[in-house]
Amino acid sequence: MNLAQLQTGQKAVIVRVGGSGAFRKRILEMGFVQGKEITAVHNAPLKDPIYYKILDYNVSLRHKDAERIEVRLLEPFELEREPAEAPEEPLPAPELHSLHHREHSGLRSKTLPTLRIALLGNPNCGKTSLFNQASGAHEHVGNYSGVTIEAKTGYIYYGGYRIELIDLPGSYSLSPYSPEEIYIRNYLTGSQRPDLVLNVVDTCNIERNLYLTLQLKELGLPVVVALNMFDEFMQREEYFDYPRLSRLLGIPMIPTICRTGLGLEALFDEIISVAKGIKAGDESLFSPETGKLRPLRIPYGPTLEPLIEELTEKIQEHTEITDALAARSLAIKLLERDKDVEEGLIARHTRGGFLLSARDFALRKLREYTDEEAESLITDARYGFISGALKETYFPKHSGKRTLTDRIDDVVTSRLWGFPLFLLLMGLMFFFTFTLGQYPMDLIDSLVGKLGAWLGSSMSEGPLRDLLVDGIVAGVGGVIVFLPQIVILYLFISLLEDSGYMARAAFIMDKLMHRMGLHGKSFIPLIMGFGCNVPAVMSTRMIESRKSRLITMLVLPFMSCSARLPVYLLLAAAFFPIPWQATLVLFSLYLIGIFIAVVSARLLRSAVFKGEDIPFVMELPPYRRPTVRSVAIHVWMRSKQYLQKMGTVILAASIIVWFMSYYPRQDKERAIKDQQVEALQQSALPEAIRQAQIDSLEHSFATYHQEQSIIGRIGHLSEPIIRPLGFDWKMGVSIVSGLMAKEVVVSTMGVIYTGDGDDGDEAIAQLSTRMKQEKRSDGSPSFTPLIAYSFMLFVLLYFPCIATLIAIGRESGHWKWGFFSALYSCGIAWLICFVVYQTAHLLS
Ligand code: GDP
Ligand code: MG
Repeated sequence: MNLAQLQTGQKAVIVRVGGSGAFRKRILEMGFVQGKEITAVHNAPLKDPIYYKILDYNVSLRHKDAERIEVRLLEPFELEREPAEAPEEPLPAPELHSLHHREHSGLRSKTLPTLRIALLGNPNCGKTSLFNQASGAHEHVGNYSGVTIEAKTGYIYYGGYRIELIDLPGSYSLSPYSPEEIYIRNYLTGSQRPDLVLNVVDTCNIERNLYLTLQLKELGLPVVVALNMFDEFMQREEYFDYPRLSRLLGIPMIPTICRTGLGLEALFDEIISVAKGIKAGDESLFSPETGKLRPLRIPYGPTLEPLIEELTEKIQEHTEITDALAARSLAIKLLERDKDVEEGLIARHTRGGFLLSARDFALRKLREYTDEEAESLITDARYGFISGALKETYFPKHSGKRTLTDRIDDVVTSRLWGFPLFLLLMGLMFFFTFTLGQYPMDLIDSLVGKLGAWLGSSMSEGPLRDLLVDGIVAGVGGVIVFLPQIVILYLFISLLEDSGYMARAAFIMDKLMHRMGLHGKSFIPLIMGFGCNVPAVMSTRMIESRKSRLITMLVLPFMSCSARLPVYLLLAAAFFPIPWQATLVLFSLYLIGIFIAVVSARLLRSAVFKGEDIPFVMELPPYRRPTVRSVAIHVWMRSKQYLQKMGTVILAASIIVWFMSYYPRQDKERAIKDQQVEALQQSALPEAIRQAQIDSLEHSFATYHQEQSIIGRIGHLSEPIIRPLGFDWKMGVSIVSGLMAKEVVVSTMGVIYTGDGDDGDEAIAQLSTRMKQEKRSDGSPSFTPLIAYSFMLFVLLYFPCIATLIAIGRESGHWKWGFFSALYSCGIAWLICFVVYQTAHLLS
């Protein structure tokens, strides 16, 4: 039978993993090897994916992937098997200390010898927590795999050393499948290789975590292990003779609790003594007697071992790699058909091609003995080695007691409650973000308005004042206004992430997302997109599969970010005065955005990004209480990113837009207008009429000036293109200015329609009146509800702002995707608005 046929609650043993390529490899590495027990916990609300328990962790697999894993139901006698008898005497609990004896600032000199230490471990094992505790840095930790994306460097001064800690992305293994793994591999073997690898291990899940440890050790790197989550582990009251395991593997192992920093003192003492040995070229460290850092040679069994040895000899003979261990490690990688290593071999060694054919010959020989693939034999052997070592040192209790996480998941991922709970949480998130966020927004808005007014009155007239008031303050102010919403949104997101709920949300949403050609995890960036597309694009990095990641990035801009909201609010209030209509309009816009995203995703998946991709194997981490510190760091980082975007791109955009709408100045016409105004002021007309005439003069001059300005001319040029959508050149101007940042659309409309870019309440009211009165040259109104709606649709769909495009270009690794996104979204926007406007026009 296969794994998908397993009923909820049933236990089975894995017999064979079918399939091929990335899927098989990933599954094997995550511990799905022959002989391991697996339990079906339950199905997602939409029946797919399925939630399993294997080794000591929870994982979700899609039905289709589970079908490829052959299992055998456990016999009743196997179920009742007693756990191995643990030794009577329990090990004493270790005494843990945090790092107190850091060097004083006086000693923090750069002249201290530097130790470069790479932090490595499975996703979610606590690397970032360790990094933060040790270096005092503020990185975002999350109870959700894939939170760390780039290597971050921090320093600690300890024991006479300047220790450079590098926090690498989480990874289950060193096989080069995901970009993170390739990155790590290159880092560890490249010219920048660290002095030592600090491998952080989740002690509660030691079996799977040791897989990476073995691989590191096999690469011949000096490894020190931090047995993290020791607090959670001690609660299980299991017998674990880790000093013995440490001696067996030749790897120092130190218990830690990185959340609080306990155990770090012993850890860093150990690191320093190991490093001292390495630096001093202390050969004794590598000798078997000391039991430390001696090389580890995993036996690969009677079938593989002769092949490995033969290949090792050939490598030593035909390349400059003479070290037996390094050659062996290379031989194993070759037998695993590691693409990265193959390419490197051919590139660096003249006899590379010869060695590859020797490898192929060896694999053909293997075929004669067994129909197992070499890579699965190798993975099996590694897990077998781990099991063997743990059998001697670790006596798990298998009490069958249900953990808190199990009980929470019974509700959170259940068919009945899964979706209602999910919708409730999302609803709450949006309510808090958009409703409560409004109050601080209004406050900031009025402060910015006051600042502008104050600057306007205290500076003398001239371009500089206008630049400051209308360009910089108004432009940047329009962005700071969204900060409260961003803060609240990310507060929610980081709470959901840190608690572990996000992984469940991805689990629940996977089926829907998969239908769109996306991944369960894609849903998080999409949700974040409602806040601001820029950080959302950045967060797509947690999606392992490159194709899904690209599709997610490209459809993200259709999620209506909060910068577009003011446009909707303005137009909806002006042209759909009945509240329920306005609400409906807003709601429909958000829905259309989502709909277009779904359709585009499917389109892209079937046309551009064809083919299967990395499987959906997602770990469901145990629920943990988020710490105030980690949530605060997360929110702070996101707000900072947002403000940085504002500080650079939006500031530049505001200045450019201001410049284009300010020049040329039309000094001649201005002088004529000033004369006329003067004349009116002298005239004997009644006060009210006089003022009205002056206003009308000022307004028609402002309009004329706008029309003749650079941006106005661009607007005119664009008219033939946007005419079929119901727009005139003034709307064209707003659209062009919105290319920079959608925040600018409303203030540009202010400038065009009222000659005043202010967006205070009064100004908005005035703007909306003006827009309603606005006439075209033929006397028909410029805006009808239909045109307003078409315009809102266009603003929703066209061109992600410049900052988003930059983010897409950077994250996808190629500018062509940025261009693609720009063209695609503009094309879609035009098409949709054309269809909507023309159809409605014909019908009316
Ligand atoms: P990373 O993905 O390896 O960088 O892991 P993080 O540092 O982001 O931590 C993952 C989760 O584990 C977070 O919720 C941490 O608060 C939590 N955590 C980290 N270390 C410990 C520990 O020693 N004990 C416990 N109970 N939780 C921890
Ligand atoms: Mg991390």
